Amino acid sequence: MKQKKLLYTGKAKSVYHTDVKGTLLVEFRDDITAFDGGKKDTLKNKGSYNAGVSAFFFSYLEKNGVKTHFLEMLDEKRMAVRELSMIPLEVIVRNIAAGSIVRNYPFKEGTPLKPPVIVIDYKDDSRHDPMLNDELIVALKLATPAELKKIKTLALRVNTLLSGLLAKQGITLVDFKMEFGRQGKTIYLGDEISMDSMRLWDKKTGESLDKDVYRFNKGDVMATYNRVAARITKKPGKPVPAKAAVPKKTSKTAAAAKKRKSHAKA
Ligand code: C5P
Repeated sequence: MKQKKLLYTGKAKSVYHTDVKGTLLVEFRDDITAFDGGKKDTLKNKGSYNAGVSAFFFSYLEKNGVKTHFLEMLDEKRMAVRELSMIPLEVIVRNIAAGSIVRNYPFKEGTPLKPPVIVIDYKDDSRHDPMLNDELIVALKLATPAELKKIKTLALRVNTLLSGLLAKQGITLVDFKMEFGRQGKTIYLGDEISMDSMRLWDKKTGESLDKDVYRFNKGDVMATYNRVAARITKKPGKPVPAKAAVPKKTSKTAAAAKKRKSHAKA
């Protein structure tokens, strides 16, 4: 398969056309951002950790009957995917209160949410991804009521499957974000499921094993991603360069943290 023209570039991934009809190529770059892009870095190997974990989850979900856009890995950072018409929704499933719902609502961090809470945001950086409700989603024609029902069922199914899988590795799936797309009438899970889009806590120590390490300068981001990717995929980790990546706190970073309002964006 040949990589062709760039179709779209996001904050951490680029999507290319290919010479195969209906197949796109997603490149997981080494860029990492937080707080609506206010904090930015490039961390060596980050793309391959997220690509590997996403591929592992997508394969597991496919084996368990969830349709995803994943086709195959082309190399450590490049994934062949089914071309979808993406639905601009960020579908977040929360099992434990953390992050923006603790900042915005009177939840105490760490409170179990049973049943899990689904929150759907409008994917629009210029509007800071505002939270939607079912009526708004339908009124904005982002999805039909039937599609919305299907998306919520899929989101909960993915949550059950991934929570169970991660629990076996001693990891709690606190919350995570999904994006869906259509091909004809079928809804597929798209985008990525990785340390950038999940909140993961070590069951024993409570330690963050995800992008919160980057957002809140909790330690060596790439050492964490390396360890957690190896733990999830059960493949040996990579040697981490000595000065891997505790990102420097720039004035831009500090300003961005100050400016942060309701969401810690990917
Ligand atoms: O910041 P918040 O608590 O709303 O995030 C909930 C979950 O969704 C987190 O796991 C976060 O990493 C993910 N998320 C994301 N992309 C966004 C917003 C949130 O992956 N734009």
